Amino acid sequence: MPLQIVHHPDYDAGFATNHRFPMSKYPLLMEALRARGLARPDALNTAEPAPASWLKLAHTADYVDQVISSSVPEKIEREIGFPVGPRVSLRAQLATGGTMLAARLALRHGIACNTAGGSHHARRAQGAGFCTFNDVAVASLVLLGEGAAQNILVVDLDVHQGDGTADILGDEPGVFTFSMHGERNYPVRKIASDLDIALPDGTGDAGYLRRLATILPELSARARWDIVFYNAGVDVHAEDRLGRLALSDDGLRARDEMVIGHFRALGIPVCGVIGGGYSTDVPALAARHAILFEVASACA
Ligand SMILES: [Zn+2]
Repeated sequence: MPLQIVHHPDYDAGFATNHRFPMSKYPLLMEALRARGLARPDALNTAEPAPASWLKLAHTADYVDQVISSSVPEKIEREIGFPVGPRVSLRAQLATGGTMLAARLALRHGIACNTAGGSHHARRAQGAGFCTFNDVAVASLVLLGEGAAQNILVVDLDVHQGDGTADILGDEPGVFTFSMHGERNYPVRKIASDLDIALPDGTGDAGYLRRLATILPELSARARWDIVFYNAGVDVHAEDRLGRLALSDDGLRARDEMVIGHFRALGIPVCGVIGGGYSTDVPALAARHAILFEVASACA
C-alpha cells in the first residue's frame, strides 16, 4: 500500500504569482510528487469540502457563515492577508475536508498526508495569518465527537506559533497541543499551547534537532495517543522569507524522519499536513514540502 495522499486541484485558489502568499506551491508540490513516483492513482484521494457542521465545531457559527457566503468583514480579511472570495472560501473548505480525510486514512493505514492544511493561526472567531479555517482543530473535534479518537496530539513544527489551534483547543481535554517555533516570529501575541518551545533566531539543524529529540519521548509518555497531527511547515528553512531559523534541506528531512519515525515505531497513526513555507523560489519551496511525503512514504 503506497502512502495515501489527499489532494484537490482547487487547493490552488489562483493568486497572482507576485502575491505574498505563494499559492502556486500547491500545483508545484503535486508536480514534485508525480516526479518522485508518489502521486500514483492508488495513492491519491480527492478532498471534499468540509460541511458547515464540522467547521462550526471549531469556529463560531457567524464566522463560518461569513466564509461560506464570502462575506467576511474587511477587518478580518486584512488579518487573514487576502480577500475571502468564492475560490478562497472553497479552498478553505477543501483543505479542511482534506485534513479530515487524511486523518481517517491515517487511522486506517497508519499514516497519510494532506497536500494542504496546517492553517494554525485561524482562531475560533476568525481567520488570521493566511489561515481561514483551522483544519487540524476541526478534524480533531470531529474525531473526538465521533468517538474515533479519545487522545489526540498536535505536533506543530511550523516556524510560527500555533496560536489559533491553542485558542480553539485550549479547553479541550482530549487534545494536547505542542508548538515549537521561532520566539521572535509572528504572532506577536502568542496564545499558550499545552506545551510551547520558543527557539532563538538563527537556530540551525543541530540545535533544533537536539531540542526535538529531547521532547518527543516526553510527548509520547504523556498519554496513549490515538493519532498525531503533524504540522510539517517548512518555514524553518534558512532560505524561507519569513522564517528567521536556519534549517537546511537535510535538517528538514532529519526533522520529519525523527517525528514520523518516533510515533510510527510506537504504532501511533500520523496525519501529516504541510503547514507554512514562503519563498520566491516556488519550485524550491515545493521540493521542500515534498520531503514530508518522501519521508512518510518510507514509513507507509
Ligand atoms: Zn508558518
